[in-house]
Amino acid sequence: MTVWDEVVGQPAAVAELTAAATDPTAMTHAWLFTGPPGSGRSVAARAFAAALQCPRNGCGECTACRTTLHGTHADVREIVPEGLSIGVEEMRALVQLAARHPATGRYQIVVIGDADRLTERAANALLKAVEEPSERTVFLLCAPSDHPDDVPITIRSRCRVVSLHSPPASAIAAVLTRRDGIDPATAEWAASVCGGHIGRARHLATDADARARRERVLAVPLGLRGLGDAFAAADELARAAKAEADDLSGSRDAAEREELGVAMGAGGVGKGVAGAARAAKAAEKGLEKRQKSRATRTQRDVLDLALIDLAGFFRDALVAGSAARVPLTSPDRAADVDRAARAWTPESVLRRLEAVLACREALDRNVKPLVALEAMLVAVQQG
Ligand SMILES: [Zn+2]
Repeated sequence: MTVWDEVVGQPAAVAELTAAATDPTAMTHAWLFTGPPGSGRSVAARAFAAALQCPRNGCGECTACRTTLHGTHADVREIVPEGLSIGVEEMRALVQLAARHPATGRYQIVVIGDADRLTERAANALLKAVEEPSERTVFLLCAPSDHPDDVPITIRSRCRVVSLHSPPASAIAAVLTRRDGIDPATAEWAASVCGGHIGRARHLATDADARARRERVLAVPLGLRGLGDAFAAADELARAAKAEADDLSGSRDAAEREELGVAMGAGGVGKGVAGAARAAKAAEKGLEKRQKSRATRTQRDVLDLALIDLAGFFRDALVAGSAARVPLTSPDRAADVDRAARAWTPESVLRRLEAVLACREALDRNVKPLVALEAMLVAVQQG
C-alpha cells in the first residue's frame, strides 16, 4: 500500500503531489486543494502531508506515514472548523505553532480543512504566515474552489492549486468493496446514487436509516397533491433534519461537558474556589457556544443533503424529458423520474429545480429551516 490508496479516482492530482514530495527543491510552502464536497480534499491533503514527512515519500507503512494518516504526528496539525467559521484566536495559535521547527518530522505541516470558513480576521492572520513562511513550514488549505468567495485572492495568489474532481462511480464502488468490505452489488448501487461523494456512498451502503431517509426525500416531488401536503412535507423534513443532527451531536456534547467538568475540578471549598468557579463558568459558556454553532452547522449539512437529492430528482426529470443521453443522479428512481418528465413541462420542472436552489441559498442566509422549506415545497407543489 501507499499513502495514496485512499485518494480515490484522482490520478492527475496524485501524480503532481508525488512529484512535489519527491523533489524538495520544487517545494511550495502553501497549497490549496479544491474540489466539490466528497471529492476527498482533506484526504488528499493528509496523504500529501504523509508523503512529505515520509523518508520514502509516502510508503504508507513507516511511523511517519501511519501517524500522519491517523492524525497523531507531532509535526502535522489539522484544523477542522466545528462551527460555522474558523476564528482569529484559533488561527493565531496555529500560526505560532507552525513557525516552530519540526520536532521529529521533515516539515511542520498545517492542514486547514474548510478554508472557506475562515473569518476575515483569521484569513489575515493566516496571510501573514503564508507571506513569510518559515523555511520548513507547509500550509495545506482545502476549499470547494479557488474562487474569491471561497479563498481571499491575497491567500490564493500565494498557493499552488491542486484541483480534485468528483471521482467516477466505478472508482467509488471499487474502494467501498476493497476498503470497507461492502458487497459489490450494494457498493455499485451506492456509488451510482451518491453524486460523486465517497463518504455519502459509504453511509448509504452501511446505514439503513440513511437509505430510508433518502427514499422519503425522493418520494416528495410526486407525493404533493395539495398545499396541505407541501406544509406537512416541509414540517417532516425540518423535524427529520433536526432529529438526525441532534442524534449526531447529542452524545458528543455530553462527553465534552463531562470532560470539561473534570478538567475544571467540580466542587471544592476554600481559598481560590470562587475564582476557579468563575473560570469554570466562563469555560462552560464558551463550550455551550461552540456546541450550539456546531449543532446549527450539522443541521444545515443534513438538510443540504436532502436538498441535493431533491435537486438531483428535478435535474433527472429535465434530462429524461430531453434527448440528452447522460447518466441520472438517481438511476434507481428512473420510473418516478419518467413519470415526472411526462407529467410536467420542462419549464415547470425547471421552476421546481430553481425553488430547491433558492431554498439552499435561503438556508445559507440563515433563514429558519422550516420557513425556507415551506416556501420551497409550496413552489414545488404548484410547479
Ligand atoms: Zn512512509
